[in-house]
Amino acid sequence: MDRKLIGVDLGGTTIKFAILTDNGEVQQKWSVETNILDEGSHIVPDIIESINHHIDLYNMDKAQFIGIGMGTPGTVDRENGTVVGAYNLNWKTTQHVKADVEAGTGIKFTMDNDANVAGLGERWKGAGENGSDVSFVTLGTGIGGGLIADGHLLHGTAGAAGEIGHVTVEPNGYLCTCGKRGCLEQYASATGVVHVARDMAEEFSGDSELKRQADDGQDITSKLVFDLAKSGDALAVRVVDKVCYYLGLALGNLANTLNPESIIIGGGVSAAGDYLLKQVDHYFQEFAFTTVRNSTSLKLARLGNDAGVIGAASLALAFK
Ligand SMILES: [Zn+2]
Repeated sequence: MDRKLIGVDLGGTTIKFAILTDNGEVQQKWSVETNILDEGSHIVPDIIESINHHIDLYNMDKAQFIGIGMGTPGTVDRENGTVVGAYNLNWKTTQHVKADVEAGTGIKFTMDNDANVAGLGERWKGAGENGSDVSFVTLGTGIGGGLIADGHLLHGTAGAAGEIGHVTVEPNGYLCTCGKRGCLEQYASATGVVHVARDMAEEFSGDSELKRQADDGQDITSKLVFDLAKSGDALAVRVVDKVCYYLGLALGNLANTLNPESIIIGGGVSAAGDYLLKQVDHYFQEFAFTTVRNSTSLKLARLGNDAGVIGAASLALAFK
């Protein structure tokens, strides 16, 4: 009998599911909306219902499944299978996710933080090419990271390893949601890019479409900044250069510390593609020391939205 894995990527707006072979090949994919009403109390029952329904739908047998792996926001207690502090899910109290999912599906369950899981996915089936030392950074609304060193995902003593978004890149810089100043997330996430663009627009006196739109009070997005920079807009080019400087600084120091084979850049901001990668790499080369510069390379993520479900499923390989 072919043995399968289930990957679940729990997010604030959708829950993504996939059934995979134990080699990481996605065979079925589906998603449901995340119902965060009533303090998120519908989320776990919805996950159980959706998994049971699809196993029936595909005429599969529960005994076929090695396990279910899930990536979740919030702080994960992997030993007890609980999550706390996932505020975008309205989960204010401790959620006994593992016990509930195992009781509801009869399949073994394990989970980890969503950015760690996306990192595992890119490492296994994406740009990481199954290397033993791979770092992953996701540039979305915020910045997250997943670090795999000597074949193991790093968690740290309080589960905060890989929080690349809170690396200080500008002492006394912008105030971060974590309470600290100058965090990478405030400069290079989608919202950070916009913050940098608005501040630089105030000082800029040359001709620029980005400045006109910012001065007009129009909605600026990080995509607009990158698109205008690609078309040569003088201010947008400077904004992108500054953002890439901060990324090159943080990733250079990450590489100086861990010396991974690759640092994979994913998330919405990475849609700027090679244009972004080249400029980050320029500064990365400046901040990485020789041995690291010659052995660690920057890459763009390849799996897009599938990184979460694939990485989550890989967690369940531990039950094999
Ligand atoms: Zn911070």
